[in-house]
Amino acid sequence: MPAMEQHQHQFLKMQALHWLKHKMTDLCAVEVKYSCRRKKRTADAVGISFRRREARIIEVKTSRQDYFRDDVIASPSGYAAVADYAYILTPAGMLKKEELPAGYGVMEADEYGKITIVKNPTRNKKPALKLDTLVRRTSRAATNAHLFQEENKLSKGHQETAYSRSPVIQMIRATCPSCRKRHPYVIHPGQNTVRCRGKSCKTEVELARARMTIVSQYNGTFIKEMNAIYGDISEED
Ligand SMILES: [Zn+2]
Repeated sequence: MPAMEQHQHQFLKMQALHWLKHKMTDLCAVEVKYSCRRKKRTADAVGISFRRREARIIEVKTSRQDYFRDDVIASPSGYAAVADYAYILTPAGMLKKEELPAGYGVMEADEYGKITIVKNPTRNKKPALKLDTLVRRTSRAATNAHLFQEENKLSKGHQETAYSRSPVIQMIRATCPSCRKRHPYVIHPGQNTVRCRGKSCKTEVELARARMTIVSQYNGTFIKEMNAIYGDISEED
């Protein structure tokens, strides 16, 4: 898979996870490994609802070649065969309805990753895997992802300090709708847009739609103490 396509695949997989989280609320994970009929498979995103006793799988396809090359989708160990509901998630307009295998729903993501259902899936009344098996597989994937994240956090240090109360400046991360990169930005709290810092991109990014996360934030005390060390920054230039 070319790098750009890989990047978009990763991006859509995370959007799929957010969608499942919103829909299922109980247990969701990406890259869930399972085996069925002696085939080892990996589902891009799985969501489990215990109340409804059902599993949903979302398979991300970012190009037509990628989709038509895939022989898992329609196979007896494919996503629609093992879960109660399965979807293909693509960029808007990539596939025509009549190009989809039976049973699958279709979801499309806009350039910000917002997902719309184009076609509903049909329920598989006899999934090839027990719900319990998918629960176990999904739990494993979720636990691995969590531990991986914890390790990342340890190497970064923490951010909740006396300097972060009543912030006047924030360091954030936001996703650009054009180049799909998540860059860090420094903004004022309440600022609505930033200019993508991608070298050849420079797209105006609407923060409300760009899955903005605050990395750290600083208040007046911090600025004052920093100025005391470095000299007044506003006078520099
Ligand atoms: Zn960009």
